[in-house]
Amino acid sequence: MAEKSDKDTRRATRRSDARRGAGVSLALAVVGLLAVVGVAIAAVSYASSANAGSGEAASPDGSIPREVVSDQVAPSNDVPASDSTDDAARQADLGLDPTRATDWLDHSNGEKTVYLTFDDGPSENTEKVLDILDKYGAHATFFVTGMKPNYYDMIGEAYRRGNTIGMHTFTHDYATCYASVDAYFADLGQIAQVVKDQIGYVPYLVRFPGGSSNTVSRSYCPGIMSTLAPELLARGYQYYDWNVSSGDGGGTLPVDELVANATSYGNFTNVILLCHDSSPKTTTVEALPQIIEYYQAQGFVFKAITRETVVVHHGIQN
Ligand SMILES: [Zn+2]
Repeated sequence: MAEKSDKDTRRATRRSDARRGAGVSLALAVVGLLAVVGVAIAAVSYASSANAGSGEAASPDGSIPREVVSDQVAPSNDVPASDSTDDAARQADLGLDPTRATDWLDHSNGEKTVYLTFDDGPSENTEKVLDILDKYGAHATFFVTGMKPNYYDMIGEAYRRGNTIGMHTFTHDYATCYASVDAYFADLGQIAQVVKDQIGYVPYLVRFPGGSSNTVSRSYCPGIMSTLAPELLARGYQYYDWNVSSGDGGGTLPVDELVANATSYGNFTNVILLCHDSSPKTTTVEALPQIIEYYQAQGFVFKAITRETVVVHHGIQN
């Protein structure tokens, strides 16, 4: 990510300036002392070795490894010391790692939690959604597509504001992504690249268009979901369906209806709530504050999905 590398460069520069400064003062002191006995040349050699310290941790390309930087640079106001640690921790948790098992489901935590999920974005609505989430101290998960390149930067923006990014296919075109297993993974690779450009890595989270229980895929490739679901897990991904839906996947619904749907959570304490973030879903944006307020009044907190989140899978029907 461009921002991160700028940050690292700034830190590396500060660190190297600090070291150079220390080296120069030390060298001056030594020069002063040694000049008295007429062996100033020794000081030059000492100064060189002191300065060499600023390069000790440099990797072959000249950059400073992050852990060294965060250890040794004093915190400053513009760059919080915990930044790179948090970024690294998020990436370690959310990054695709084919060697990590993802065949888990039951991670429900003890507290009442809503995992808001927004499919089909980014779009012109994404920033409004992000502002509402911020206002309520809530986080969500965005399963994104490649349909609106003009809004790709919203993927990075959502991530930086603490939300999780998952992949929902690039085309969101059933005939394309469900044409074959290879076609699905080719499409997934495309959206993975878009997301990587925005957040710096490929996440392990996936949502199928139509959910894993969709039967539309049957028209294009009979049996494909039965292959794709275990294959995703085998490749280190996890797919997320939902247990509560706002009902905004079809035509535009009035706000009251969306709120009623989205807040009908039955006995679930861990709610994975389906919403959409595509251009026509303006009533979803309007309904969002009421949905959040309702759940918060019931003692729920809104979190972004992580590997510690309960996984909901529908029954596969194709
Ligand atoms: Zn969708």
